Amino acid sequence: MSAQPKREIKKVLIANRGEIAVRAIRTCKELGIKTVAVYSEADKDSLHVMLADEAVCIGPPPPSESYLNIPNILSAAEITGADAVYPGYGFLSENPKFAEIVEANGLIFIGPRPETLRLIGNKVKAKQVAKRAGVPTVPGSTRKISLEEALDIAYDIGYPVILKAAAGGGGRGMRVVYSEKELREKFPLARSEAKAAFGDDTVYLEKFLLNPKHIEVQILADKSGKVVPISDRECSIQRRHQKVIEEAPSPSIDGETRKKLYEAAVRFAEAVGYEGAGTVEFLYDTKSGEFYFIEMNGRIQVEHPVTEMVTGVDLVKWQFLIAMGEELPFEEPPPINGFALEMRINAEDPVTFAPAPGPIERLILPGGFGVRVDTHVYQGYRVPPYYDSLLAKFIVHAADRDELIRRALRVVEETVIEGKGLKTNLEFHKFILQTKEFREAKHHVKLLEELGY
Ligand code: ADP
Repeated sequence: MSAQPKREIKKVLIANRGEIAVRAIRTCKELGIKTVAVYSEADKDSLHVMLADEAVCIGPPPPSESYLNIPNILSAAEITGADAVYPGYGFLSENPKFAEIVEANGLIFIGPRPETLRLIGNKVKAKQVAKRAGVPTVPGSTRKISLEEALDIAYDIGYPVILKAAAGGGGRGMRVVYSEKELREKFPLARSEAKAAFGDDTVYLEKFLLNPKHIEVQILADKSGKVVPISDRECSIQRRHQKVIEEAPSPSIDGETRKKLYEAAVRFAEAVGYEGAGTVEFLYDTKSGEFYFIEMNGRIQVEHPVTEMVTGVDLVKWQFLIAMGEELPFEEPPPINGFALEMRINAEDPVTFAPAPGPIERLILPGGFGVRVDTHVYQGYRVPPYYDSLLAKFIVHAADRDELIRRALRVVEETVIEGKGLKTNLEFHKFILQTKEFREAKHHVKLLEELGY
């Protein structure tokens, strides 16, 4: 392939908040790129605002008026003379219109092309692409269906089935259905919910797999068309389809399966003309040894640091370099060194799991050998109630998985995060790390539910 024209990024606007904004600013400093933070009125004391070279307030606390406010974000880019926009995860990161508008304004969008975002953002279309590319998908429908079609397909593949919103994400827009009667009841509900939540009533259906593992492949793809897998991650510790602990590499697959998984991920990324850092997600059936594509996420993932720990590849740096037209210097997946896991430390009630924000009056963060903490919080910071409850990510790296779990436990035990009204899920992590299933790597996506969570 021909060499790509290089585009320079001198100043980037970080269209995000919290730990991922801090994460990106740190890499920019190392790359010599100036940074512009944007913030809502609720975030004026946030760490990303302090670390960036410049900061612009883009509106009141509700995300719709600030972090999702495209005109205000673009005005901030214009007045500060930024030449690129980094979207992080969540907010506008997977919005093809935003990517398009950014590029139409002469700025570089650090992520895949808008057409790619549009395609993979529709989970039914993505499944069609996977099928055409010879990537195994979960049995079920591969297009928008009516209730009658849903009943026919469910009859053929057998119950239980899962109804999914094509435009869904973040663990939302899914319903498990156990019988024909339930499908008749839930199908119209799923449709109207999908319309209300995502503005698109396309619902599809697939076989609900029994206790699968969630295994995903991180890829980097440059503008020349080269796609390289950068380790796999297992994210089977989930509560209500939301990831709680992630690890790299997956402790559940052998070299042969890993190779096939990587090949499938590359085939899919190539089929959608992917550019940048992305993740191809699969469900893995431990009994049959089969894996099935579920979706691709066209952005940096919350759990990306576990991959960085075991490969030494700075994924955020590569997002910037690829956007500037740099070619990947490696052909093969980098070697994996040891094991890493990430715990999502949330401000939430340990019993109800409801968000429990508040001031951080006392903070002792963990450290020591093999420990990385990605966070935007500090002692004296007040966790605002308007955004997701992620306080910090504790990432642990060790030579083997037993040492990894012991280290993770030590990390949780030395942490103190206290304040009036503020609660955390630290004890929940301690509990999970000590379960027999997790220690023996026999955990699956339904484990926490089986244990009463
Ligand atoms: P989202 O885009 O909301 O993250 P995904 O399609 O990636 O949704 O699925 C999220 C999680 O939901 C999976 O990791 C898994 O735990 C569960 N899930 C999704 N599809 C199935 C399925 N067909 N069978 C069993 N569990 C599923």
